[in-house]
Parts: sequence; structure tokens; C-alpha cells
Amino acid sequence: IVPTLREDRGEIEAALRGELPRVVTERDVRGDLHTHTDLTDGLASLDAMVEAAAERGYAYYAVTDHAPDLYMQRMTDEKVLAQRERLRELDGARRRMRLLHGTELNIGPDGGLDWPDAFLAGFDLCVASLHSHFDLGRTAMTRRLVRVVENPHVNILGHPTTRLIGRRAGVDADWDEVFAACARTGTALEVNAQPDRLDLGDEDILRARTHGVRFAVNTDAHSVPHLAQLRYGIGTAQRGWLTPDEVINTWSLTRLRRFLRKGGR
Ligand SMILES: [Zn+2]
Ligand SMILES: [Zn+2]
Repeated sequence: IVPTLREDRGEIEAALRGELPRVVTERDVRGDLHTHTDLTDGLASLDAMVEAAAERGYAYYAVTDHAPDLYMQRMTDEKVLAQRERLRELDGARRRMRLLHGTELNIGPDGGLDWPDAFLAGFDLCVASLHSHFDLGRTAMTRRLVRVVENPHVNILGHPTTRLIGRRAGVDADWDEVFAACARTGTALEVNAQPDRLDLGDEDILRARTHGVRFAVNTDAHSVPHLAQLRYGIGTAQRGWLTPDEVINTWSLTRLRRFLRKGGR
């Protein structure tokens, strides 16, 4: 039994029955699906982040800089489209790793997003995250999160509870309803590997997986060294008993792309 499973949550019984899951490992991960560059609040350039990702041996890598509603990030349509052009150039010059152009959207108070659907359709994938309005109350927060995962362009709910370990508790929502909506719509829940987030945490993962949800273990890297923080996300995923089949960024690019279409659009 790997150390991350030793929590007295039935692992001994499962092992005796021969039903211990083959949990996801760092080696299974074929790409990172939530990362930033210096176009917003990252420290490294697009070129440097892509180079570092390639050195990790990834098969694919997504760049998901912040969207305009986080005003201090000063994102514009022009800037993100110029980034896409450069990313396509870098992609054309690489043989082993495919680049995906994404964004990290800000979930508005009512579940709205930064850009209209037609603009969102131009991204290869969209992460949507809470960055404001954390105290709406359970009913409004649940409605807000369900609405956002129902958006056909939203593929990953980023750092879902938005907790900061030792500083901020997660938001209040009817998580079973949110997890069920993610499963129904084909939206992945993120296991954010930042050491002060680890969000979703292990207990939420265990609860979410009973709904048949898929997950994405991402670094949310804002610099080159952050890419190596994946291990903390993997440790958390293991504590949640996640297998590679439940983690979309262990999949082949073909299978991942099919998932990103959310049942075809
Ligand atoms: Zn975020
Ligand atoms: Zn982020």
C-alpha cells in the first residue's frame, strides 16, 4: 500500500480483497492543463514555459492565462489572440509536444464569464475559477457553479473550493450538486497542485468520484519551477484514490480532445 493511501479509509480491507486501486502517479501525467505566462501574472515568457514543459517530456501542454475580468491582469482580446498566434508558431516548430491554447476565466457572481461564447469557442480549452465573491451563501454559490459548468466551453473547474491552507476556508456550496453537474456535463474538477491550495482536497475528491466525475491534476504554474509542484497534486490525487482513467491529463491527446468537446459542439 503506497504511503499516500495509508489513511485508514478501508485500504487494508481493499488490499485483502485484491481491490486496491492502481492510483495515478507522476509518470502517468502527459501534460499540464493550467499554466500562466508573463502575459498576465506569471514570471516566465511563453517561450520559456513551453521549453520547460517540453523538458518534462509532456505530450501536450496548455497555456491558460487570466481573462479580462481580473482587471489587474490587463488582459485584452488583442493580447490573447497575439499569444495564440505565437503559441501556434511554437507548436508548428515542435514534434513531440502539442500546445493547447486556453484561458483561466473568472466566474462572475451569477456564473457568467469574461468573454462571449463565440470568443470562448476559439480556445482549445477553458478553465473557469472563482477569484471573487466568495461569500454568496450556499444556494447562490451552488447555482453559480452549476451554471458555469453547464457552459459548453468550460472544461475544467479550477481550484474548485478556492481554499488557501491556513488562510481561507473553501467557499460554501452544495458540493454534491456541483459534482453531479460536472459529471453530467463532462466538466473536469481540478486538483490544483499549488502547495497552499491542494484544491480539491482528498476528502472532496473521494466524494466527487462517487458521482463519476473526471479530474485534471494541474500545477497552475506561474513560473518554471512551479511545473515541478505537480507531485503535490499527484499526492493529493492518490489520497483521493484516483486512478489514471479518472484523470484527463493522463489520457492520449485524441481522448482528451474528445472530452474537451463536451459531447460535441
Ligand atoms: Zn485561479
Ligand atoms: Zn491559474
